[in-house]
Order: sequence, then structure tokens, then C-alpha cells
Amino acid sequence: MMPMTRQQIEVLLDRLDQHDYVVSAYVDMTVKNGFARDVDLHLKNQARAAAEALGPTQARKELDANLEVIRQIVADHAGSPVHGLAIFSSLPRGLRHVVPLDFEVENHLVLDEEPFLLPLLERWYGEATHLIVLLDSDEAHLFLAHGGEPEWVRDLERKDVQEDYQRDKPRFTYKKRFARAQHERLHASVDDQFLHEVREFVAEAWGHDHYAGLILLGQPPITASLRRLLPRELGQAVVGEAPHAMTARPQDLSDDVIRIVEKVRTEREQLLLTELRERWRRDHLVASGPSEVLDALLQGRATQVIFGTHRDMQGARCSECGYRFGLPVEVCPYCLAACKKVNAVQEILRLAVRHRVPVHLVRRGAATDPLAPAGVAAFLRAEANWTPPAVTAGARS
Ligand SMILES: [Zn+2]
Repeated sequence: MMPMTRQQIEVLLDRLDQHDYVVSAYVDMTVKNGFARDVDLHLKNQARAAAEALGPTQARKELDANLEVIRQIVADHAGSPVHGLAIFSSLPRGLRHVVPLDFEVENHLVLDEEPFLLPLLERWYGEATHLIVLLDSDEAHLFLAHGGEPEWVRDLERKDVQEDYQRDKPRFTYKKRFARAQHERLHASVDDQFLHEVREFVAEAWGHDHYAGLILLGQPPITASLRRLLPRELGQAVVGEAPHAMTARPQDLSDDVIRIVEKVRTEREQLLLTELRERWRRDHLVASGPSEVLDALLQGRATQVIFGTHRDMQGARCSECGYRFGLPVEVCPYCLAACKKVNAVQEILRLAVRHRVPVHLVRRGAATDPLAPAGVAAFLRAEANWTPPAVTAGARS
């Protein structure tokens, strides 16, 4: 199955500042009937929270109605190859949104005024999606890899192959591969018509979605020729190139793809942390801690967000003006309305998706947090005094 798309997340971001409750359910689909078993336990915890927020009668009614929707969706997906489901349901809002997940989640139920998106956002930013091209002189296969696991996307085959070599034979046989290897495979040139087709094929797929980079696999002379042919933007997007035998099976690519993706990730992290330390040292265009980072995002000043190993930071949201704070404020300094506790990490990631600001997450497992004690930081294009005084005043109180 395909990894989740930006659209699947964005549709949930546009439902801010409504006061009807949303039930967010994360369902582990790898265990048969697991959700049905666990749901009662989670329900007890959530029912208490719901009763506090809505009053016992109303809460019970809303929860039950939404849970019925969720149970039905889980039942409809039984036996499908998804690893998990994220389901968002709010009957008063007319919200019923399902995101099939290609990664495992724990059963989890949250009732809040906003969809609980942290697991989706963390996944979205935590593991970049790469587009992979495996090619030889006759065929090209496109895969994508979210993290390290490649999945097949599409195939392209040289038009004359079927007639010349493959009549009546299944594809991807050894015979074909060796038959053409000697005289053509090693002599691909930029004049080769097939390579031009591959270029178009790749460019089209690239424009289709948001990829962190392009990986070229195949015989070096051929991948090098393709690289020379690629449009500039795509050429710059190539993050790795490696020799690889032709195959149509995504799992054959795993080791190489994981190696390249990990290398890219580590190099990128080193670069970002070096730059962060330098900005910290000079106290130059950098926001530190959830409050400053949220302000920078809300004011459009952030160009890159970096999280350390922690994903739990207390924040608050004003129930009237909707301003978000990176600390547990109880009364909004702008409009004096009561604030509600929120997870500041979710707020930061949500704003980053909306404003298309890149985010790097240091993995949770790391022994030490390179961002301690700030926890989160952002590179800025302008200092805070760039913003109107009314917004700046009190933002850090
Ligand atoms: Zn307010």
C-alpha cells in the first residue's frame, strides 16, 4: 500500500477552532480483533475526560455514536493489507476521515476538540519518502521508499523489447537480461531514446508527490547517463546512486535503499546540528524552545524546525482567539480567555505542515538529546522584531 499523502493530513488541519469534539482512533490492524478487545479499556479513560468536558449524558452519547462509526470502519477494513488505521470521527462536524497506515500503531483513542495527529505528523516528518529508479537499457522500475522499505510504483519498458526478445516469454527472465547485457547495456548514451523516455517517466512521477530525494540504481554507466539527462532540479535531488541488478521485486532493493537513506539522513542531521550550534553560539536567527518556535511559525519567520528526542511538551491553546503557546498558559495574554492544555509538539508539527516548513526529528532512541535543554529549535529568516508589536508583546510571558 502507499504511504499517506500530504492531502490526507491537510484535510485534518483545516478543522481548527471548532468546539465540537472529535474522536481520534488509532487502530492496530495486525492483531485480529485487537481493537475490539482494547477499545473498552481506552474508552474508560476517555469517557472520564469526555464527561468532564461535555457533561456525563452528552459525552456518553457523542462517544457512543462516534465509536459506532469507528467500529464499522474497522470492520470494513478487516482482512485488508493495512498495518493500521487512523480514524477521525465527529458527527456534529460531519467529519469522517480514514487514513490507512503502512506502519504499526498501538490502539489508542483520544477525544478532543481537535484531531489527535501527532502519530501521523511524526511519521510524516520522521521518515522521508524517496523516489527510486532502477533501470537498465531495456526497462525501468519506479519504487518509492518511506524510510527504508521500497514499494513498487510503476514500470517502463523499451518499446522494441517485446518484439525482439520477449515474444511469448515472461518478463524479467535471466535470458533477456544476459541477451542484451553485452552489446547494449554497457553502452547507454545520452542519445538513447529509451533514456529520454525514462527521464520523462521520472520527472512525471517526481511532480506527483513530495519526495525528499531521488535514488538511482542500476549499472553505473546507465545511471550516470540518466543523471546527465535529468532536468536540473531533479539532478540536484539525486541523493544516492548505486550499482544494482535488475529486479522487479521491491524487497530485493531494501538493503541498498536502507543504506542510502540512512546515510542521507545522518549527513543531513550532522549538517543541521552543526548549523544550529553555530547559530546558538552567535545567537543569530534561531528560535529555541516550544514558545519561540511556535511564535516564529505563527509569524511566518521559521525556515527549518529541528526536534530533539522528546515528543512531549506542554503547550496551551486559547479557546477564543486560537493563539498557541509553547508553555502551559492558563489565561490568554491577548484576549484574557481561558486556555486549554495541548501537546506543543503536535501544534508545532501542524503549523509546519501548513506553512510547508521542513522539519527534522532526531530519533527518539538517541542516547543523548542534542537539543537539550531547548528540546526544539528553528532557523529563522528574520528576528522577532520583524513582526507587529501587538503580536510580539506577551508572547513569551
Ligand atoms: Zn486569546
